[in-house]
Amino acid sequence: MAKRSRFNVGKYGAFPYGKLKILEKELDKEIDNIIDLKENLEKKKEDLELIIAQEINYCREEAKNNVKHLERGFDFLLIVSLVLPNAALIYFWTLPNVSFANSWFLIIFSPMVSGFIDNIFSFLTTRDQDNEKYQKALRRAQNKIAINYYKKKRTSKKSIEKKINNIFKEIIELDKEEEFLSSVSQKLPDLQERAKQRERVAKIEAYEGRIRDGSKIVRKRLLKSVEYNNWNCPYCNRKKTPTKAVADHIYPVSKGGLSTLQNMVLICNNCNEKKSDLTLRIFCKQQNYNYNKVIDRLEELGKDV
Ligand SMILES: [Zn+2]
Repeated sequence: MAKRSRFNVGKYGAFPYGKLKILEKELDKEIDNIIDLKENLEKKKEDLELIIAQEINYCREEAKNNVKHLERGFDFLLIVSLVLPNAALIYFWTLPNVSFANSWFLIIFSPMVSGFIDNIFSFLTTRDQDNEKYQKALRRAQNKIAINYYKKKRTSKKSIEKKINNIFKEIIELDKEEEFLSSVSQKLPDLQERAKQRERVAKIEAYEGRIRDGSKIVRKRLLKSVEYNNWNCPYCNRKKTPTKAVADHIYPVSKGGLSTLQNMVLICNNCNEKKSDLTLRIFCKQQNYNYNKVIDRLEELGKDV
């Protein structure tokens, strides 16, 4: 039997999306492969089983021919034991005053008489011994012919039976593997979706990381353009110390805002804590700031709003 290397799925739960796509194709191919293998094995098994089935038919016929001389001819005594009581029964029913209604029990009685007569014949003749002799001779002839039958095919019944058994085991193994691979295949769409999401989140995180690095540079540039003695936070419009100011993304990073001079502005720490990921309009509403005035101040600073 051809040896097959087992398909290795590995730790597929942690595979990236691309690899899961490849795995999907490989799994489909492998499952097809297993189905083909199983079909071939089934066919081989059928062929072997046919050899045994043919042996049984062929050898029985051959053996019957070989022991024909021991076979008893037409069994006259058996006919006598069957016909006699039945003929008597039919005759009995033709007599006047006898009907089925008053003699139905004779139907049971008749086979009993048949059996009784048959037993007497068996006792008086060698019929049973002859039959036994014939059956023994038939079995012996059958075995002998069977050995020759397999010799011609250069094998033996035992080895064929062993082969059938091995094929059967192999098919069971393949069934198990097919079941496992199918279960992995069924989980794939879900795993692929999760891998996609994982990768999307990773991309966003990388993007936000770049934005944060960029914002440090912008903050330095913004600080240079500020009058230290006279600085008001453009959001709350209160006088503050610009050294403690924070560079805010007017349009939030989480919504796609970039670290550009046009989208960033120095604001006080207090406003920064409150604004976090909010858009400017919502932040102003929450803080009760006049949105239009905030916009005016930002425009004066050259911001995109
Ligand atoms: Zn402020």
